[in-house]
Amino acid sequence: LTNQAMAPSNSFTVSSPNVAYTDDTITSKYTYRTTAIDTSNGKVVATPKETVYDFKTERKVGKVGLMMVGWGGNNGSTVTAGIMANRQNLVWDTREGQRAANYYGSLVMASTTKLGVDSKSGKDINIPLHDAMPMVHPNDLVIGGWDISSLDMAASMDRAQVLEPTLKQMVRKQMSAMKPLPSIYYPDFIAANQGERADNTIAGDKACMDHVEHLRKDIRDFKSQNGLDKVIVMWTANTERYGDLVPGVNDTADNLMKSIESGHAEIAPSTVFAVACIKEGAPFINGSPQNTFVPGCIELADQHGAFIGGDDFKSGQTKMKSALVDFLINAGIKLTSIASYNHLGNNDGKNLSSQKQFRSKEISKSNVVDDMVAANSCLYKEGEHPDHTVVIKYMPAVGDNKRALDEYYAEIFMGGHQTISLFNVCEDSLLASPLIIDLVVIAELMTRIQWRNHGEQDWKSFHSVLSVLSYMLKAPMTPPGTPVVNALGKQRSALVNIMRACVGLEPENDMTLEHKLF
Ligand code: NAD
Repeated sequence: LTNQAMAPSNSFTVSSPNVAYTDDTITSKYTYRTTAIDTSNGKVVATPKETVYDFKTERKVGKVGLMMVGWGGNNGSTVTAGIMANRQNLVWDTREGQRAANYYGSLVMASTTKLGVDSKSGKDINIPLHDAMPMVHPNDLVIGGWDISSLDMAASMDRAQVLEPTLKQMVRKQMSAMKPLPSIYYPDFIAANQGERADNTIAGDKACMDHVEHLRKDIRDFKSQNGLDKVIVMWTANTERYGDLVPGVNDTADNLMKSIESGHAEIAPSTVFAVACIKEGAPFINGSPQNTFVPGCIELADQHGAFIGGDDFKSGQTKMKSALVDFLINAGIKLTSIASYNHLGNNDGKNLSSQKQFRSKEISKSNVVDDMVAANSCLYKEGEHPDHTVVIKYMPAVGDNKRALDEYYAEIFMGGHQTISLFNVCEDSLLASPLIIDLVVIAELMTRIQWRNHGEQDWKSFHSVLSVLSYMLKAPMTPPGTPVVNALGKQRSALVNIMRACVGLEPENDMTLEHKLF
Protein backbone atom coordinates (compact mmCIF):
# COMPACT_ATOMS: atom_id res chain seq x y z
CA LEU A 1 0.00 0.00 0.00
CA THR A 2 1.27 3.45 -0.84
CA ASN A 3 0.59 6.74 0.82
CA GLN A 4 -0.79 9.63 -1.20
CA ALA A 5 -1.07 13.17 0.07
CA MET A 6 -4.26 14.36 -1.63
CA ALA A 7 -7.16 12.44 -3.06
CA PRO A 8 -9.62 14.18 -5.35
CA SER A 9 -13.25 14.87 -4.39
CA ASN A 10 -13.14 13.90 -0.72
CA SER A 11 -13.41 16.27 2.18
CA PHE A 12 -10.27 14.87 3.80
CA THR A 13 -7.53 12.40 3.12
CA VAL A 14 -5.81 10.04 5.47
CA SER A 15 -2.05 10.17 5.51
CA SER A 16 -0.93 6.74 6.60
CA PRO A 17 1.15 3.88 5.25
CA ASN A 18 -1.95 1.72 5.77
CA VAL A 19 -4.19 3.70 3.43
CA ALA A 20 -4.03 3.93 -0.34
CA TYR A 21 -6.13 6.04 -2.67
CA THR A 22 -6.65 5.49 -6.37
CA ASP A 23 -9.16 7.27 -8.59
CA ASP A 24 -11.50 4.34 -8.09
CA THR A 25 -10.89 3.01 -4.59
CA ILE A 26 -9.82 3.71 -1.02
CA THR A 27 -8.01 0.75 0.51
CA SER A 28 -7.11 0.44 4.15
CA LYS A 29 -5.23 -2.07 6.24
CA TYR A 30 -6.92 -2.04 9.60
CA THR A 31 -6.02 -3.67 12.88
CA TYR A 32 -9.18 -4.59 14.77
CA ARG A 33 -8.43 -4.76 18.50
CA THR A 34 -10.72 -6.73 20.81
CA THR A 35 -10.44 -8.54 24.12
CA ALA A 36 -10.67 -12.32 24.31
CA ILE A 37 -11.89 -13.80 27.61
CA ASP A 38 -10.97 -17.22 28.92
CA THR A 39 -13.05 -18.52 31.82
CA SER A 40 -11.67 -22.04 31.97
CA ASN A 41 -9.83 -23.07 35.16
CA GLY A 42 -12.31 -21.05 37.22
CA LYS A 43 -10.55 -17.75 36.50
CA VAL A 44 -11.38 -14.94 34.12
CA VAL A 45 -8.40 -14.04 31.95
CA ALA A 46 -8.65 -11.16 29.47
CA THR A 47 -6.23 -11.17 26.56
CA PRO A 48 -5.91 -8.38 23.99
CA LYS A 49 -6.51 -9.74 20.51
CA GLU A 50 -5.69 -8.30 17.11
CA THR A 51 -7.16 -9.19 13.73
CA VAL A 52 -5.86 -7.48 10.63
CA TYR A 53 -8.35 -6.74 7.85
CA ASP A 54 -8.16 -4.95 4.52
CA PHE A 55 -11.10 -2.81 3.44
CA LYS A 56 -11.66 -1.56 -0.07
CA THR A 57 -14.27 1.07 -0.91
CA GLU A 58 -15.33 1.99 -4.43
CA ARG A 59 -15.24 5.77 -4.63
CA LYS A 60 -17.63 6.19 -7.55
CA VAL A 61 -21.14 6.24 -6.17
CA GLY A 62 -22.94 6.14 -9.51
CA LYS A 63 -26.60 6.90 -10.09
CA VAL A 64 -28.82 5.49 -7.38
CA GLY A 65 -32.55 4.81 -7.39
CA LEU A 66 -34.85 4.48 -4.38
CA MET A 67 -38.01 2.45 -4.89
CA MET A 68 -40.49 2.50 -2.02
CA VAL A 69 -43.20 -0.06 -1.44
CA GLY A 70 -46.08 2.01 -0.06
CA TRP A 71 -44.82 5.09 -1.92
CA GLY A 72 -48.21 6.80 -1.64
CA GLY A 73 -48.30 6.53 2.16
CA ASN A 74 -47.45 9.23 4.69
CA ASN A 75 -43.75 8.35 4.79
CA GLY A 76 -43.40 7.72 1.07
CA SER A 77 -45.06 10.97 0.00
CA THR A 78 -43.35 13.03 2.72
CA VAL A 79 -39.82 11.84 1.99
CA THR A 80 -40.40 12.37 -1.73
CA ALA A 81 -41.65 15.95 -1.25
CA GLY A 82 -38.80 16.58 1.20
CA ILE A 83 -36.19 15.52 -1.33
CA MET A 84 -37.85 17.62 -4.06
CA ALA A 85 -37.75 20.63 -1.73
CA ASN A 86 -34.10 20.06 -0.80
CA ARG A 87 -33.10 19.60 -4.42
CA GLN A 88 -34.45 23.05 -5.22
CA ASN A 89 -33.44 24.70 -1.93
CA LEU A 90 -37.04 25.73 -1.42
CA VAL A 91 -38.08 28.33 1.14
CA TRP A 92 -41.77 28.61 2.08
CA ASP A 93 -44.00 30.66 4.33
CA THR A 94 -45.48 29.27 7.50
CA ARG A 95 -47.39 31.01 10.26
CA GLU A 96 -44.12 31.09 12.18
CA GLY A 97 -42.23 32.76 9.31
CA GLN A 98 -40.15 31.32 6.51
CA ARG A 99 -38.80 27.79 6.61
CA ALA A 100 -36.12 26.35 4.35
CA ALA A 101 -35.65 22.77 3.18
CA ASN A 102 -33.32 20.77 5.41
CA TYR A 103 -32.35 17.25 6.34
CA TYR A 104 -32.87 17.52 10.10
CA GLY A 105 -33.29 14.13 11.69
CA SER A 106 -30.93 12.44 9.27
CA LEU A 107 -27.88 10.97 10.96
CA VAL A 108 -25.95 11.08 7.72
CA MET A 109 -26.99 14.56 6.57
CA ALA A 110 -27.46 16.49 9.79
CA SER A 111 -25.03 15.04 12.33
CA THR A 112 -21.29 15.32 12.61
CA THR A 113 -18.51 13.12 13.87
CA LYS A 114 -15.15 14.00 15.34
CA LEU A 115 -12.48 13.41 12.75
CA GLY A 116 -9.62 14.21 15.13
CA VAL A 117 -7.81 17.01 16.93
CA ASP A 118 -6.26 20.02 15.21
CA SER A 119 -2.51 19.63 15.66
CA LYS A 120 -2.03 23.40 16.10
CA SER A 121 -4.97 24.56 18.20
CA GLY A 122 -5.74 21.28 19.96
CA LYS A 123 -9.40 21.75 19.06
CA ASP A 124 -11.69 18.98 17.83
CA ILE A 125 -12.30 18.91 14.10
CA ASN A 126 -15.79 17.63 13.34
CA ILE A 127 -17.10 16.70 9.92
CA PRO A 128 -20.60 15.91 8.67
CA LEU A 129 -21.06 12.15 8.70
CA HIS A 130 -21.85 12.40 5.00
CA ASP A 131 -18.24 13.44 4.39
CA ALA A 132 -16.74 10.49 6.28
CA MET A 133 -16.80 8.35 3.13
CA PRO A 134 -18.02 8.75 -0.45
CA MET A 135 -21.82 8.53 -0.19
CA VAL A 136 -24.77 9.28 -2.41
CA HIS A 137 -26.39 12.66 -1.74
CA PRO A 138 -30.13 12.24 -1.13
CA ASN A 139 -30.83 15.09 -3.58
CA ASP A 140 -29.44 12.82 -6.31
CA LEU A 141 -31.71 9.85 -5.61
CA VAL A 142 -34.11 8.93 -8.39
CA ILE A 143 -37.37 8.07 -6.66
CA GLY A 144 -40.12 5.64 -7.61
CA GLY A 145 -42.12 2.79 -6.18
CA TRP A 146 -45.35 0.90 -5.77
CA ASP A 147 -48.62 1.39 -3.93
CA ILE A 148 -51.91 -0.47 -3.84
CA SER A 149 -53.53 2.98 -3.91
CA SER A 150 -53.48 4.70 -7.30
CA LEU A 151 -53.24 8.31 -6.08
CA ASP A 152 -50.36 10.28 -7.54
CA MET A 153 -47.77 11.72 -5.17
CA ALA A 154 -49.42 15.17 -5.04
CA ALA A 155 -52.76 13.67 -4.01
CA SER A 156 -50.93 11.31 -1.64
CA MET A 157 -49.22 14.17 0.19
CA ASP A 158 -52.61 15.91 0.52
CA ARG A 159 -54.07 12.72 1.96
CA ALA A 160 -51.13 12.45 4.37
CA GLN A 161 -51.83 15.91 5.90
CA VAL A 162 -48.21 16.34 6.97
CA LEU A 163 -46.64 19.22 5.04
CA GLU A 164 -47.50 22.93 4.99
CA PRO A 165 -49.85 23.99 2.16
CA THR A 166 -47.32 26.58 0.95
CA LEU A 167 -44.63 23.92 0.56
CA LYS A 168 -47.03 21.47 -1.07
CA GLN A 169 -47.93 24.14 -3.63
CA MET A 170 -44.29 24.53 -4.60
CA VAL A 171 -43.72 20.81 -5.29
CA ARG A 172 -47.23 19.95 -6.50
CA LYS A 173 -46.48 19.93 -10.22
CA GLN A 174 -43.54 17.55 -9.91
CA MET A 175 -45.33 15.38 -7.39
CA SER A 176 -48.44 15.04 -9.55
CA ALA A 177 -46.33 13.59 -12.36
CA MET A 178 -45.22 10.74 -10.08
CA LYS A 179 -47.55 7.76 -9.96
CA PRO A 180 -46.99 4.55 -8.04
CA LEU A 181 -46.75 1.27 -9.88
CA PRO A 182 -49.49 -1.28 -9.13
CA SER A 183 -48.57 -3.59 -6.27
CA ILE A 184 -49.39 -6.99 -4.90
CA TYR A 185 -52.21 -7.05 -2.36
CA TYR A 186 -52.98 -10.07 -0.17
CA PRO A 187 -55.86 -8.76 1.98
CA ASP A 188 -55.22 -11.30 4.71
CA PHE A 189 -51.94 -9.58 5.69
CA ILE A 190 -53.04 -6.00 6.39
CA ALA A 191 -56.07 -4.64 8.24
CA ALA A 192 -59.45 -5.03 6.56
CA ASN A 193 -59.90 -1.26 6.91
CA GLN A 194 -57.24 -0.77 4.19
CA GLY A 195 -59.37 -2.48 1.51
CA GLU A 196 -60.97 0.75 0.29
CA ARG A 197 -57.65 2.22 -0.89
CA ALA A 198 -56.59 -0.90 -2.82
CA ASP A 199 -57.42 0.23 -6.39
CA ASN A 200 -53.98 -0.25 -7.94
CA THR A 201 -53.24 -3.94 -7.63
CA ILE A 202 -51.67 -6.69 -9.68
CA ALA A 203 -54.08 -9.60 -10.28
CA GLY A 204 -53.92 -12.41 -7.71
CA ASP A 205 -54.35 -12.41 -3.94
CA LYS A 206 -51.64 -14.80 -2.84
CA ALA A 207 -47.96 -15.39 -3.51
CA CYS A 208 -46.90 -16.74 -6.90
CA MET A 209 -43.84 -16.71 -9.13
CA ASP A 210 -45.63 -14.36 -11.54
CA HIS A 211 -45.63 -11.75 -8.79
CA VAL A 212 -41.93 -12.23 -8.13
CA GLU A 213 -41.17 -11.90 -11.84
CA HIS A 214 -43.47 -8.88 -12.20
CA LEU A 215 -41.69 -7.02 -9.39
CA ARG A 216 -38.28 -8.00 -10.72
CA LYS A 217 -39.23 -6.54 -14.09
CA ASP A 218 -40.46 -3.34 -12.39
CA ILE A 219 -37.04 -2.93 -10.78
CA ARG A 220 -35.18 -3.65 -14.03
CA ASP A 221 -37.40 -1.25 -15.99
CA PHE A 222 -36.96 1.52 -13.41
CA LYS A 223 -33.23 0.99 -13.59
CA SER A 224 -33.01 1.12 -17.35
CA GLN A 225 -35.53 3.96 -17.81
CA ASN A 226 -33.51 6.15 -15.47
CA GLY A 227 -30.02 4.97 -16.39
CA LEU A 228 -29.35 3.80 -12.83
CA ASP A 229 -26.36 1.87 -11.54
CA LYS A 230 -28.30 0.44 -8.63
CA VAL A 231 -31.66 0.48 -6.91
CA ILE A 232 -32.40 0.24 -3.19
CA VAL A 233 -35.89 -0.94 -2.22
CA MET A 234 -37.58 0.13 1.00
CA TRP A 235 -40.73 -1.38 2.52
CA THR A 236 -42.65 1.58 3.93
CA ALA A 237 -46.03 0.01 3.25
CA ASN A 238 -48.54 -0.99 5.89
CA THR A 239 -47.57 -3.17 8.80
CA GLU A 240 -48.53 -6.74 7.97
CA ARG A 241 -49.52 -9.46 10.39
CA TYR A 242 -46.82 -11.92 11.34
CA GLY A 243 -46.47 -14.86 9.00
CA ASP A 244 -46.54 -18.24 10.74
CA LEU A 245 -43.18 -19.99 10.68
CA VAL A 246 -44.04 -23.39 9.32
CA PRO A 247 -41.47 -26.16 8.84
CA GLY A 248 -41.35 -27.12 5.16
CA VAL A 249 -42.96 -23.79 4.12
CA ASN A 250 -40.67 -20.89 4.91
CA ASP A 251 -37.84 -22.42 6.93
CA THR A 252 -35.34 -22.80 4.08
CA ALA A 253 -34.68 -20.95 0.83
CA ASP A 254 -35.80 -23.94 -1.24
CA ASN A 255 -38.99 -24.40 0.73
CA LEU A 256 -39.78 -20.69 0.51
CA MET A 257 -39.43 -20.72 -3.27
CA LYS A 258 -41.61 -23.84 -3.50
CA SER A 259 -44.22 -22.20 -1.28
CA ILE A 260 -44.30 -19.14 -3.50
CA GLU A 261 -44.75 -21.36 -6.54
CA SER A 262 -47.62 -23.24 -4.91
CA GLY A 263 -49.27 -20.05 -3.61
CA HIS A 264 -49.02 -20.91 0.07
CA ALA A 265 -51.24 -18.66 2.22
CA GLU A 266 -48.50 -17.84 4.76
CA ILE A 267 -46.24 -15.97 2.33
CA ALA A 268 -46.59 -12.22 2.90
CA PRO A 269 -46.41 -9.57 0.16
CA SER A 270 -43.34 -8.09 1.87
CA THR A 271 -41.58 -11.47 1.62
CA VAL A 272 -42.45 -11.66 -2.09
CA PHE A 273 -40.92 -8.19 -2.51
CA ALA A 274 -37.84 -9.28 -0.56
CA VAL A 275 -37.42 -12.35 -2.76
CA ALA A 276 -37.77 -10.27 -5.94
CA CYS A 277 -35.13 -7.84 -4.67
CA ILE A 278 -32.76 -10.62 -3.59
CA LYS A 279 -33.03 -12.15 -7.05
CA GLU A 280 -32.39 -8.73 -8.65
CA GLY A 281 -29.49 -7.96 -6.29
CA ALA A 282 -31.27 -4.84 -5.04
CA PRO A 283 -30.80 -4.23 -1.29
CA PHE A 284 -34.18 -4.55 0.45
CA ILE A 285 -34.92 -2.85 3.77
CA ASN A 286 -38.02 -3.49 5.83
CA GLY A 287 -39.27 -0.37 7.60
CA SER A 288 -42.24 -2.16 9.21
CA PRO A 289 -42.29 -4.59 12.11
CA GLN A 290 -43.59 -7.81 10.55
CA ASN A 291 -41.40 -10.89 10.08
CA THR A 292 -40.80 -10.41 6.36
CA PHE A 293 -37.43 -12.06 6.74
CA VAL A 294 -38.52 -15.58 7.56
CA PRO A 295 -35.55 -17.96 7.88
CA GLY A 296 -35.92 -19.12 4.26
CA CYS A 297 -35.70 -15.53 3.07
CA ILE A 298 -32.52 -14.86 5.07
CA GLU A 299 -30.99 -18.03 3.65
CA LEU A 300 -31.94 -16.97 0.13
CA ALA A 301 -30.28 -13.56 0.63
CA ASP A 302 -27.15 -15.28 1.90
CA GLN A 303 -27.08 -17.64 -1.08
CA HIS A 304 -27.33 -14.69 -3.48
CA GLY A 305 -25.00 -12.39 -1.51
CA ALA A 306 -27.82 -9.84 -1.57
CA PHE A 307 -28.23 -7.23 1.16
CA ILE A 308 -31.26 -7.16 3.43
CA GLY A 309 -31.98 -5.00 6.48
CA GLY A 310 -34.74 -4.50 9.02
CA ASP A 311 -36.99 -4.28 10.90
CA ASP A 312 -39.22 -1.27 11.63
CA PHE A 313 -38.09 2.35 11.51
CA LYS A 314 -36.93 3.57 14.91
CA SER A 315 -38.29 7.09 14.93
CA GLY A 316 -39.81 8.27 18.19
CA GLN A 317 -40.69 6.38 21.34
CA THR A 318 -38.27 3.50 20.79
CA LYS A 319 -35.41 5.80 19.85
CA MET A 320 -35.87 7.63 23.18
CA LYS A 321 -36.13 4.30 24.95
CA SER A 322 -32.95 2.87 23.46
CA ALA A 323 -31.07 5.99 24.57
CA LEU A 324 -32.70 6.51 27.97
CA VAL A 325 -32.63 2.91 29.15
CA ASP A 326 -28.98 2.61 28.14
CA PHE A 327 -28.27 5.73 30.21
CA LEU A 328 -30.28 4.58 33.27
CA ILE A 329 -28.88 1.08 33.42
CA ASN A 330 -25.33 2.27 32.75
CA ALA A 331 -25.82 4.81 35.55
CA GLY A 332 -26.50 1.90 37.90
CA ILE A 333 -30.19 2.71 38.28
CA LYS A 334 -32.45 -0.32 38.41
CA LEU A 335 -35.25 0.19 35.95
CA THR A 336 -38.20 -1.91 37.11
CA SER A 337 -40.96 -1.01 34.65
CA ILE A 338 -41.62 0.80 31.39
CA ALA A 339 -45.18 1.66 30.42
CA SER A 340 -45.50 2.98 26.87
CA TYR A 341 -48.74 4.41 25.50
CA ASN A 342 -49.22 5.79 22.00
CA HIS A 343 -52.08 7.34 20.15
CA LEU A 344 -51.99 8.41 16.54
CA GLY A 345 -54.50 9.27 13.85
CA ASN A 346 -52.80 8.58 10.54
CA ASN A 347 -53.37 5.59 8.25
CA ASP A 348 -50.64 3.66 10.07
CA GLY A 349 -52.69 4.05 13.26
CA LYS A 350 -55.82 2.92 11.44
CA ASN A 351 -54.05 -0.20 10.21
CA LEU A 352 -52.61 -0.86 13.68
CA SER A 353 -56.08 -0.66 15.23
CA SER A 354 -56.46 -4.22 13.94
CA GLN A 355 -55.20 -6.77 16.50
CA LYS A 356 -52.95 -8.90 14.29
CA GLN A 357 -51.10 -5.89 12.86
CA PHE A 358 -50.81 -4.31 16.33
CA ARG A 359 -49.26 -7.55 17.52
CA SER A 360 -46.41 -7.16 14.97
CA LYS A 361 -45.72 -3.67 16.34
CA GLU A 362 -45.98 -4.83 19.94
CA ILE A 363 -43.32 -7.47 19.33
CA SER A 364 -40.90 -5.10 17.61
CA LYS A 365 -41.31 -2.51 20.39
CA SER A 366 -40.90 -5.02 23.22
CA ASN A 367 -37.38 -6.38 23.02
CA VAL A 368 -35.48 -3.12 22.84
CA VAL A 369 -34.04 -3.19 26.34
CA ASP A 370 -33.10 -6.87 26.56
CA ASP A 371 -29.39 -6.52 25.77
CA MET A 372 -28.90 -3.62 28.19
CA VAL A 373 -30.64 -5.50 31.02
CA ALA A 374 -28.75 -8.73 30.32
CA ALA A 375 -25.41 -6.88 30.35
CA ASN A 376 -25.82 -5.58 33.92
CA SER A 377 -25.51 -8.40 36.45
CA CYS A 378 -25.04 -5.84 39.26
CA LEU A 379 -28.70 -4.87 38.91
CA TYR A 380 -30.47 -7.88 37.42
CA LYS A 381 -30.30 -11.56 38.30
CA GLU A 382 -30.21 -13.98 35.40
CA GLY A 383 -33.62 -14.00 33.70
CA GLU A 384 -34.82 -10.94 35.63
CA HIS A 385 -36.33 -8.22 33.48
CA PRO A 386 -38.20 -4.93 33.96
CA ASP A 387 -41.96 -5.09 33.34
CA HIS A 388 -42.66 -3.62 29.92
CA THR A 389 -46.00 -2.90 28.28
CA VAL A 390 -46.86 -1.20 25.00
CA VAL A 391 -50.30 0.20 24.08
CA ILE A 392 -51.27 1.81 20.76
CA LYS A 393 -54.64 3.45 20.09
CA TYR A 394 -56.07 4.95 16.92
CA MET A 395 -57.23 8.53 17.47
CA PRO A 396 -58.13 10.06 14.07
CA ALA A 397 -58.22 13.67 15.30
CA VAL A 398 -54.46 13.88 16.01
CA GLY A 399 -53.57 12.76 12.47
CA ASP A 400 -49.85 12.32 11.91
CA ASN A 401 -49.11 14.13 15.21
CA LYS A 402 -48.37 11.03 17.16
CA ARG A 403 -48.41 11.12 20.94
CA ALA A 404 -46.17 8.82 22.94
CA LEU A 405 -46.45 8.74 26.73
CA ASP A 406 -43.87 6.74 28.65
CA GLU A 407 -43.38 6.11 32.32
CA TYR A 408 -40.02 4.76 33.44
CA TYR A 409 -40.09 3.51 37.03
CA ALA A 410 -36.80 2.65 38.72
CA GLU A 411 -35.33 1.60 42.02
CA ILE A 412 -32.55 3.79 43.38
CA PHE A 413 -30.26 3.77 46.44
CA MET A 414 -31.59 2.07 49.59
CA GLY A 415 -35.05 1.20 48.30
CA GLY A 416 -35.90 4.63 46.93
CA HIS A 417 -37.73 5.20 43.64
CA GLN A 418 -37.33 7.35 40.58
CA THR A 419 -40.13 7.94 38.10
CA ILE A 420 -39.53 9.60 34.76
CA SER A 421 -42.53 10.54 32.64
CA LEU A 422 -42.09 11.49 29.02
CA PHE A 423 -44.64 13.02 26.70
CA ASN A 424 -43.35 12.97 23.16
CA VAL A 425 -45.38 14.71 20.42
CA CYS A 426 -44.15 14.79 16.86
CA GLU A 427 -45.19 14.39 13.26
CA ASP A 428 -44.52 10.72 12.77
CA SER A 429 -43.68 10.96 9.08
CA LEU A 430 -41.27 13.85 9.58
CA LEU A 431 -39.26 11.64 11.92
CA ALA A 432 -39.46 8.57 9.69
CA SER A 433 -38.56 10.29 6.39
CA PRO A 434 -34.94 11.12 7.32
CA LEU A 435 -34.51 7.52 8.51
CA ILE A 436 -35.49 6.32 5.05
CA ILE A 437 -32.77 8.56 3.66
CA ASP A 438 -30.15 7.27 6.12
CA LEU A 439 -31.06 3.66 5.42
CA VAL A 440 -30.74 4.16 1.68
CA VAL A 441 -27.49 6.12 1.86
CA ILE A 442 -25.80 3.62 4.18
CA ALA A 443 -27.15 0.53 2.41
CA GLU A 444 -25.83 1.95 -0.86
CA LEU A 445 -22.44 2.59 0.75
CA MET A 446 -22.31 -1.02 1.94
CA THR A 447 -22.66 -2.21 -1.67
CA ARG A 448 -19.31 -0.55 -2.39
CA ILE A 449 -17.29 -1.83 0.58
CA GLN A 450 -15.38 -5.09 0.48
CA TRP A 451 -13.09 -6.76 2.97
CA ARG A 452 -10.63 -9.60 3.35
CA ASN A 453 -8.39 -10.98 6.04
CA HIS A 454 -5.04 -9.29 5.50
CA GLY A 455 -2.89 -11.57 3.40
CA GLU A 456 -5.80 -13.25 1.61
CA GLN A 457 -6.37 -12.81 -2.09
CA ASP A 458 -10.13 -12.56 -2.55
CA TRP A 459 -12.38 -9.70 -1.52
CA LYS A 460 -15.79 -10.35 0.06
CA SER A 461 -18.83 -8.27 0.92
CA PHE A 462 -20.18 -7.71 4.41
CA HIS A 463 -22.73 -10.31 5.58
CA SER A 464 -26.05 -10.16 3.73
CA VAL A 465 -27.87 -9.06 6.87
CA LEU A 466 -26.87 -5.42 7.30
CA SER A 467 -26.81 -5.03 11.09
CA VAL A 468 -24.86 -1.79 10.55
CA LEU A 469 -28.27 -0.20 9.90
CA SER A 470 -29.37 -0.89 13.49
CA TYR A 471 -29.39 2.77 14.58
CA MET A 472 -32.35 3.43 12.29
CA LEU A 473 -34.30 0.27 13.18
CA LYS A 474 -36.45 -0.71 16.14
CA ALA A 475 -35.87 -4.43 16.01
CA PRO A 476 -32.49 -4.67 14.30
CA MET A 477 -31.90 -7.83 12.38
CA THR A 478 -28.44 -9.34 12.73
CA PRO A 479 -26.75 -12.25 10.95
CA PRO A 480 -28.19 -15.53 12.31
CA GLY A 481 -26.63 -16.47 15.64
CA THR A 482 -25.11 -13.05 16.33
CA PRO A 483 -26.15 -10.74 19.19
CA VAL A 484 -28.55 -7.83 18.76
CA VAL A 485 -27.40 -4.44 20.02
CA ASN A 486 -30.24 -2.07 20.88
CA ALA A 487 -28.37 0.66 22.78
CA LEU A 488 -28.50 3.73 20.55
CA GLY A 489 -25.04 5.01 21.41
CA LYS A 490 -23.40 1.68 20.64
CA GLN A 491 -25.27 1.45 17.35
CA ARG A 492 -23.97 4.86 16.33
CA SER A 493 -20.42 4.01 17.37
CA ALA A 494 -20.48 0.80 15.35
CA LEU A 495 -21.54 2.66 12.24
CA VAL A 496 -19.12 5.55 12.62
CA ASN A 497 -16.17 3.37 13.59
CA ILE A 498 -16.73 0.96 10.69
CA MET A 499 -16.60 3.98 8.40
CA ARG A 500 -13.38 5.10 10.12
CA ALA A 501 -11.86 1.63 9.70
CA CYS A 502 -12.62 1.74 5.98
CA VAL A 503 -10.43 4.84 5.68
CA GLY A 504 -7.80 3.45 8.03
CA LEU A 505 -8.60 5.50 11.16
CA GLU A 506 -8.76 4.21 14.73
CA PRO A 507 -12.18 4.12 16.44
CA GLU A 508 -13.13 7.34 18.21
CA ASN A 509 -12.48 6.37 21.83
CA ASP A 510 -13.28 9.62 23.67
CA MET A 511 -10.30 9.20 26.03
CA THR A 512 -8.91 12.65 25.11
CA LEU A 513 -5.62 11.78 26.80
CA GLU A 514 -4.03 14.70 24.98
CA HIS A 515 -6.01 16.97 27.31
CA LYS A 516 -5.23 14.98 30.44
CA LEU A 517 -1.58 13.97 30.18
CA PHE A 518 0.68 16.97 29.86
P1 NAD B 1 -49.30 4.73 5.55
O1 NAD B 1 -50.43 3.84 5.91
O2 NAD B 1 -49.57 6.18 5.37
O3 NAD B 1 -48.62 4.22 4.20
C1 NAD B 1 -48.55 2.89 3.83
C2 NAD B 1 -48.81 2.80 2.34
O4 NAD B 1 -48.61 1.45 1.95
C3 NAD B 1 -50.24 3.14 1.96
O5 NAD B 1 -50.24 4.14 0.95
C4 NAD B 1 -50.82 1.83 1.44
O6 NAD B 1 -51.75 2.02 0.41
C5 NAD B 1 -49.57 1.12 0.97
N1 NAD B 1 -49.59 -0.35 0.90
C6 NAD B 1 -50.14 -1.24 1.74
N2 NAD B 1 -49.90 -2.51 1.34
C7 NAD B 1 -49.15 -2.40 0.22
C8 NAD B 1 -48.57 -3.34 -0.65
N3 NAD B 1 -48.72 -4.65 -0.47
N4 NAD B 1 -47.84 -2.89 -1.69
C9 NAD B 1 -47.68 -1.55 -1.91
N5 NAD B 1 -48.23 -0.61 -1.12
C10 NAD B 1 -48.95 -1.04 -0.07
O7 NAD B 1 -48.19 4.48 6.66
P2 NAD B 1 -46.88 5.31 7.01
O8 NAD B 1 -47.20 6.25 8.12
O9 NAD B 1 -46.29 5.86 5.77
O10 NAD B 1 -45.97 4.18 7.62
C11 NAD B 1 -45.50 3.15 6.76
C12 NAD B 1 -44.97 1.98 7.54
O11 NAD B 1 -43.85 2.39 8.29
C13 NAD B 1 -45.97 1.39 8.54
O12 NAD B 1 -45.89 -0.01 8.52
C14 NAD B 1 -45.46 1.88 9.85
O13 NAD B 1 -45.77 1.01 10.92
C15 NAD B 1 -43.98 1.91 9.60
N6 NAD B 1 -43.33 2.80 10.55
C16 NAD B 1 -43.60 4.14 10.54
C17 NAD B 1 -42.99 4.96 11.46
C18 NAD B 1 -43.26 6.44 11.45
O14 NAD B 1 -43.96 6.94 10.61
N7 NAD B 1 -42.69 7.21 12.36
C19 NAD B 1 -42.12 4.43 12.40
C20 NAD B 1 -41.87 3.06 12.39
C21 NAD B 1 -42.46 2.27 11.44
